[in-house]
Amino acid sequence: MSETLEATTESAAAPAAHAPKYTRNNPYQSNVLVNELLTAEGSEKETRHVELSLEDGMTYTPGDAVGILPENRREVVDEMLQALGFTGSERVLDHYKVEIDLDEALRTRLAIGKLERGRITQMVKLAPENAGLKAMAGADNKARAEEYCYGREFIDLVKDFPGIITQPQQLFQILARLTPRMYSIASSQALHADNVQTTVRVVRYDAHGRSRQGLASGHLGERAPVGGTMPIFLHANGNFRLPEDSSKPVIMVGPGTGVAPFRAFLEERQAKGETGDNWLFFGEQRRALDFLYQEQFEGMHKDGVLTRLETAFSRDQAKKIYVQDRIEEHAAEVYAWLERGAYFYVCGDATRMAKDVHTALLDAIAKGSNGTLEHAEEYLATMKKQKRYQLDVY
Ligand SMILES: Cc1cc2nc3c(=O)[nH]c(=O)nc-3n(C[C@H](O)[C@H](O)[C@H](O)COP(=O)(O)OP(=O)(O)OC[C@H]3O[C@@H](n4cnc5c(N)ncnc54)[C@H](O)[C@@H]3O)c2cc1C
Repeated sequence: MSETLEATTESAAAPAAHAPKYTRNNPYQSNVLVNELLTAEGSEKETRHVELSLEDGMTYTPGDAVGILPENRREVVDEMLQALGFTGSERVLDHYKVEIDLDEALRTRLAIGKLERGRITQMVKLAPENAGLKAMAGADNKARAEEYCYGREFIDLVKDFPGIITQPQQLFQILARLTPRMYSIASSQALHADNVQTTVRVVRYDAHGRSRQGLASGHLGERAPVGGTMPIFLHANGNFRLPEDSSKPVIMVGPGTGVAPFRAFLEERQAKGETGDNWLFFGEQRRALDFLYQEQFEGMHKDGVLTRLETAFSRDQAKKIYVQDRIEEHAAEVYAWLERGAYFYVCGDATRMAKDVHTALLDAIAKGSNGTLEHAEEYLATMKKQKRYQLDVY
């Protein structure tokens, strides 16, 4: 009895056979090998192709993501220190109770970017009588707090409600931990053994009289020059995989940066000489400015790796056309591919695109099968069970 128990305890304590060496808490210091703009001048988007080095033994599969640990912007950290009246050399205890400088904490440990309601909740604890904060605190004032937070960052809160934070350590009570951001892997290791590639849309916007940027995409967009380093880790996603049977056809719907994992899928199938047909639906605003990886995809189409390449450029004509419209246009062929056992993948925007594509797919199935919408829903549910309908949306 005790023998079994000991054996179990021992094996539970032993590291898993395939546990990756590098994790979010122990990232790999990767080198930035390439960081180039994919969109052309004049585009409303700034989408970049970033290549990061890997150490021997670090492996990934198409469908996986890479986690990036960004740093807050120097200017924002300086502005924060100034607004709080701190120098940055004050000593604080980080999340692991390790003593570090406040400056380092603000750069690498604390989420001082986009404001969330929780920060207000924490600030009120330090100043329960502050009328402005009280007016946004608690469940009853949720809507007011959310309205205030929208488009703002922590620096706005500090400036709007000065004098509340008096001790550097209080920042660890108020602020959330700076968390990594995930990016779909856009490359196949069968072609690029020692690096990982991503497609990053840089988030920039003006709000409340300031120019703002996303934490990680901003970092990759302007503070990750070639030759610099970037802490990363690889993140497996077993729910987004090419078919095990490489002769099966695949339909991939990836507008915008959603195309990233499909570049990885196609590179993988090309490198391994897999025979299954490939159909890519790509969408963006303008062909001339926003056709990500145009040359590579058109080359693959010419070579026959990409059996079909359907594009939808919404702003190239008066009536906006999106990937779901292309699916509708080609509904009969989409259904014919599904009947041949095709796998259907969607990657990219979760808020609208994935839902619109889902509806277009249901319509295509209903039309193709001459069936009802209920029949189409059952058909799709079966596909899901068979892992033939896979989504990676964010
Ligand atoms: C599995 C997975 C895969 C992903 N793959 C990719 C990928 O391949 N490529 C890619 O680019 N991204 C990808 N993402 C998204 C990525 O992880 C980040 O969420 C994204 O880059 C934004 O992060 P950030 O740190 O730059 O911005 P953050 O600092 O997190 O800020 C973004 C936030 O800013 C706010 N905001 C943005 N615009 C405005 C505005 N106009 N007005 C007011 N507020 C605004 C919003 O609250 C938004 O959520 C993926 C996400 C997941 C979960």
